[in-house]
Amino acid sequence: MARSAVPRARLVVGASLLMLLGVLALLILPSRYQQAPVAADSSRADDSSAPLERIDAHAHLSVGCLPQLLGLMNRYGFSHIVDLSGSAPGGRLKQHLAQARASGGRITVYMTFPGHEMQTPGFGDRIAAMLAEAHDMGARGLKVPKGLGLGWVDDQGKLVAVDDSRLDPVFDAAGRLGMPVSIHTADPKAFWLPPDKNNERYAELTVHPGWSFYDQPVPSWNELLDQLERRIARHPHTIFVAVHFGNDAEEPDRVARMLRTYPNMYIDTAARIPEFGRHPPDQMRQFFIEFQDRILYGTDLGVGVEPYDLMLGSSGADPVTQADVDRFFRQSYRYFETADKNMETPTPIQGAWTINGINLPRSVLAKLYAGNARRIIPLDEGPANDR
Ligand SMILES: [Zn+2]
Repeated sequence: MARSAVPRARLVVGASLLMLLGVLALLILPSRYQQAPVAADSSRADDSSAPLERIDAHAHLSVGCLPQLLGLMNRYGFSHIVDLSGSAPGGRLKQHLAQARASGGRITVYMTFPGHEMQTPGFGDRIAAMLAEAHDMGARGLKVPKGLGLGWVDDQGKLVAVDDSRLDPVFDAAGRLGMPVSIHTADPKAFWLPPDKNNERYAELTVHPGWSFYDQPVPSWNELLDQLERRIARHPHTIFVAVHFGNDAEEPDRVARMLRTYPNMYIDTAARIPEFGRHPPDQMRQFFIEFQDRILYGTDLGVGVEPYDLMLGSSGADPVTQADVDRFFRQSYRYFETADKNMETPTPIQGAWTINGINLPRSVLAKLYAGNARRIIPLDEGPANDR
């Protein structure tokens, strides 16, 4: 889920001191995560044994999470991670960027769309100016949460639509600045249905009743997807990453149509393997091969300050265990890299069903895991690229 479910750091120590302490702690203390990397534990996509580079293009970091994050990245084989929760100038963007600098070139920070700005007229130009300022500070992209279309209102108290023309300057500016836009619109269809025992996401909605849009004064699911499409169509020079499998894991055919229609559109896999993994594996294998240049690997991992203060695509009622974390990454890799049948999904609470692996060719995996992110995201990889 795009909202960062990880509680904010309670510490109010200066950010740089915090970074220093974090890095020192990492050097001195043995981390629980610093064990052998977990690979897919079944038949590989082919016989090459060289590890593939992995970049997580969709994560939510808390300021102060660096020791825990670096331990996770090393254990699960990530070279780089994109922090979509960077906040905005005037917010905590500066601290997120300081954390990225302290990582040694392993974190890229996006500005997060400041939805509350829309309560004051003139917000389009104002947010566009904030984006330019964020870019000057070192942010490399823009994250738009699902609050656009579902939660944020203007000065009249009216929901602002995803394709509201008053926001055109923001998305044009992103294109001019070379900042990709990761955009979350709507949510799984089940969240629009009654949150009762017949709902396939009943367990998740019980823990997070606020995620239900049933009977709420919000647009229909289809209307939101249409708004998203009009937004992407209007800005051909802006790169959009429609997160969560194009925000439509239930309808790969619709996502395929949009990818064929809009060359500026990409998608990520964040928190939706349990959803798109339910489609026939042959169909999904074909999808990932046809759109091998358009899909970014993303997890929706949320990382807090305390050990195991993690969001694994969603979050349940019970505390996260090491076994949960291993399952989250291992089952993701198994889905893409093997033809294993009837696997448990990476994220327990999203549903009780199983999924079948799609056994992608190694060349496709290389693009999915890292190549496509390298191509479209101006990654922040260290002092040489520092602005
Ligand atoms: Zn997210």
